[in-house]
Amino acid sequence: MGRNVFPVVFDGHNDVLLRLGAEDGGGPAAFFEQGEKGHLDLPRAREGGFGGGIFAVWIPSPKTSERTPRGLPPALDAAYALRYALAAVAMLFRIEDRSDGKFRVVRTAAEIEGCLDEEVMPAVLHFEGADAIDTNLDALHVLHRAGLRSLGLVWGRPNAFAEGVAVHFRRSPDTGPGLTEAGRRLVRACNDLGIVIDVSHLNERGFWDVAALTDAPLVASHSNAYALCPSTRNLTDPQLDAIAASNGMVGLNFAVNFLREDATRDADTPLDVMVRHIDYLVGRVGVDGVGFGSDFDGVLISHEIGDVTGLPRLMSALADRGYDDEALRKLAHENWIRVLRKTWGA
Ligand code: ZN
Repeated sequence: MGRNVFPVVFDGHNDVLLRLGAEDGGGPAAFFEQGEKGHLDLPRAREGGFGGGIFAVWIPSPKTSERTPRGLPPALDAAYALRYALAAVAMLFRIEDRSDGKFRVVRTAAEIEGCLDEEVMPAVLHFEGADAIDTNLDALHVLHRAGLRSLGLVWGRPNAFAEGVAVHFRRSPDTGPGLTEAGRRLVRACNDLGIVIDVSHLNERGFWDVAALTDAPLVASHSNAYALCPSTRNLTDPQLDAIAASNGMVGLNFAVNFLREDATRDADTPLDVMVRHIDYLVGRVGVDGVGFGSDFDGVLISHEIGDVTGLPRLMSALADRGYDDEALRKLAHENWIRVLRKTWGA
């Protein structure tokens, strides 16, 4: 394969910490070895032009057949959630420690730019769900000091702050109640501290509550267009319009079941389906409001991408579609850096 000629990618969502932390995941050392499993490690990132991104801490639900009345896994035990989350944060810092300066947990947009220029991988610490955060917000303050700069209020299951969507097809994302009082306080605290509030996974009423409360750009780190794939995980036109009005952004999720119009988990999915979502999102939010939120190591992606080394194929398909160099730079990293700088204040 020839040299990657496309702008470097800063990606809005990956689950590599989850993969490395699994029983047979290999731990932090595995991040530095070119793997066969999963989607993302340092050697493959280099090959694919993945410069850096937002690294999610996601807490698995303990095995149970229990479901809430709306079909979601039950809320997590707080002590379990905090213990699991701290182990994942420690994994991120252990990767940094053994990276010989090649991987840095970053806290400002200037640091991201500096890292990308020096071929150091910048990593933003993100929590996918606030299950590990107490309603006094003590953990939020401590984690912010440690480097937390992005937070999804919920994954699917409910917590003290909000409720997410269960994944359904051809159903509205208006699936349950909006933010709790603690959720409203959490939004204000994130605004004060300079933490991104990620609306991916949030149900529709929660989305509108955040939109009404926050003074930061609205960010959906890994969601697609409901008009093209009517999954509860995707964004309706009014939601996309609100994101545009806030100068926020949407990161394209590579999960085939959130891309395909039939929502099937079929990896035999042409790149064109991804390009169509980009076209639609750009048409609705603007070329300044769209980027990538791959969900590498978290979802089933197209064989045509395969893993992070397939990113140049997506960039090439976008170039063929007529996106010029300036547009490709925006989609690849500039939009993410703009929104993070605005939210973080530096
Ligand atoms: Zn997710």
